[in-house]
Amino acid sequence: MNCPSCNQPAASFLRYAFTLQGVPLYQSMRGYFKCEHCGALLHVKSFGRYFWYCFVGSILVLALFTLFYRSLIKMAGTNLAIVVWFLILAGILVTFVLGMWKYAVAEKVESDDLV
Ligand SMILES: [Zn+2]
Repeated sequence: MNCPSCNQPAASFLRYAFTLQGVPLYQSMRGYFKCEHCGALLHVKSFGRYFWYCFVGSILVLALFTLFYRSLIKMAGTNLAIVVWFLILAGILVTFVLGMWKYAVAEKVESDDLV
């Protein structure tokens, strides 16, 4: 996502995924962060439609796994089924964080608006 204030990418993926991006935890959890280029306070106001495609895709994958995990265990054994399950979960987690990072739409917030 680009910073609406300076029009540069507001955060690298690693910064987005692993830091609070310059705000306290309670603000971070409510979608606030600071642009890494200009330091403007930003707020995630919505997500682009590709994010929702990822969201629906993840639910479909989970639904398919739920439908077929018994046959998978029969075919491939419990251990492999567990490995596949963790791969799916990890894949969905990465997809979500990536999708939130890439397709979030940010708006600039004046510090006075913070409650
Ligand atoms: Zn900026």
